[in-house]
Amino acid sequence: MSEPLVFPGSITIPFSYAAGAAASRFLVALRDERRILGTRCSSCKKVLVPARSFCAGCWEDTGDWIEVGPEGALVSWTTVHLPLPHLPPPPVTLGLLRLDGADTDLLHAIGGDPRRLERGLRLRPVWREARSGSLLDIAHFAPIT
Ligand SMILES: [Zn+2]
Repeated sequence: MSEPLVFPGSITIPFSYAAGAAASRFLVALRDERRILGTRCSSCKKVLVPARSFCAGCWEDTGDWIEVGPEGALVSWTTVHLPLPHLPPPPVTLGLLRLDGADTDLLHAIGGDPRRLERGLRLRPVWREARSGSLLDIAHFAPIT
């Protein structure tokens, strides 16, 4: 048997997929109404954000749609210094925030001076004027001053 040869390469595969009923409603509300929606688990009653069709804790379907925020409190954060796909140019600060009325944390870009961030800092969304039905329709969350 001869030695196998290996050639380096890369493949780019463009694709599209359906977001699903819950994510579609969530994203359309961001795009068209500047509203942030969650869904309430029919079992544990937690409000899940972004909205989901089922609760990952209980594996039960969600029921009611709940508008949350738009303000919330910073839970945790980190500053990224490397360029990553789908993120603004570095440095970018990413944070987990708990929107008012939600029981889960949302990961998003955090604006402002990262040296001034602190746990519990109140934040508000900064909406893009041109929205496309993406979580990035919110440019980032900014400290409320
Ligand atoms: Zn649940």
